[in-house]
Amino acid sequence: MRIDLHTHSRASDGTLAPSELMVAAVEARLDIIGLTDHDTTSGWDEAAASLAALTRPLGVGLGAEISCRTDDGISVHLVGLMFDRNDTALTDTLARSRDDRIPRMHAMIDKLNVAGIGVTFADVERETSDGATLGRPHLADALVRKGVVGSRDEAFANLLGNDSPFYVGHPAPTPIRAIELVKAAGGVAILAHPGAGVRGRIVDVAAIEKMAHAGLDALEVDHRDHDDKTRAKLRGVAADLGLLVTGSSDYHGTGKLNLLGENLTSDDVWVELVRRADGGVRFA
Ligand code: AMP
Ligand code: ZN
Ligand code: FE
Ligand code: FE
Repeated sequence: MRIDLHTHSRASDGTLAPSELMVAAVEARLDIIGLTDHDTTSGWDEAAASLAALTRPLGVGLGAEISCRTDDGISVHLVGLMFDRNDTALTDTLARSRDDRIPRMHAMIDKLNVAGIGVTFADVERETSDGATLGRPHLADALVRKGVVGSRDEAFANLLGNDSPFYVGHPAPTPIRAIELVKAAGGVAILAHPGAGVRGRIVDVAAIEKMAHAGLDALEVDHRDHDDKTRAKLRGVAADLGLLVTGSSDYHGTGKLNLLGENLTSDDVWVELVRRADGGVRFA
């Protein structure tokens, strides 16, 4: 099967509506897709409702990519799949993250304004779908529309990267806490792009080991932001710690270069993830 467990729709910073993403998944000949918008489950219903009309059967692992930060300030993304969306401990945490992204966006805009870059919150809102998790990609899109930069990638490279002076973090759970929440809600937890050093500081093996002890299920090894050497190293870490290995596109529609199905997860890993998840929220 062709299994791609990490994608984004307009419920966060992807460019396709959840139903359009399901059609695109069929066109990319996927058999299983994970819908993992940042800090939200608001795309689930539309995605699920669109499946019956597809020209080819598609299984969907419903989930979210949870923004986390370690105690020493490293940004970590955790993909949770097949958890119970009515678990209030988890959904309260996601809601707090989304709320905190609004003052955080104002703070980043203020810093850009001080440096003479004219962009307003209204400009960013224009780039954001209703109810979507607000993020830097929307700010990037506003800067593209204003002609400040030529593309989202250029915006991240020059102005919005994790190490840039304009970057502002937002309160987030630690990865250990997020793993505990996902597991308690019956889901499975995958550490997203753990070796993506291009984005900023990454966690070390000792930190991944602590996450494994907290119940982490898998490492996302095959991802565009990992070179061959990083993948080999992470495969070794996964083997040492008894973690499963996944591969995913982290597709964002036209917002990023990533293509659906460019990295895949094996059938046996998917079967094992489903076996471990008792939240029951998947469609196959
Ligand atoms: P935020 O959640 O607001 O901190 O923004 C994170 C989002 O920015 C994620 O969706 C990433 O895919 C995206 N992102 C991070 N680094 C880059 C980059 N260098 N180029 C394009 N998008 C990026
Ligand atoms: Zn994103
Ligand atoms: Fe991510
Ligand atoms: Fe992602």
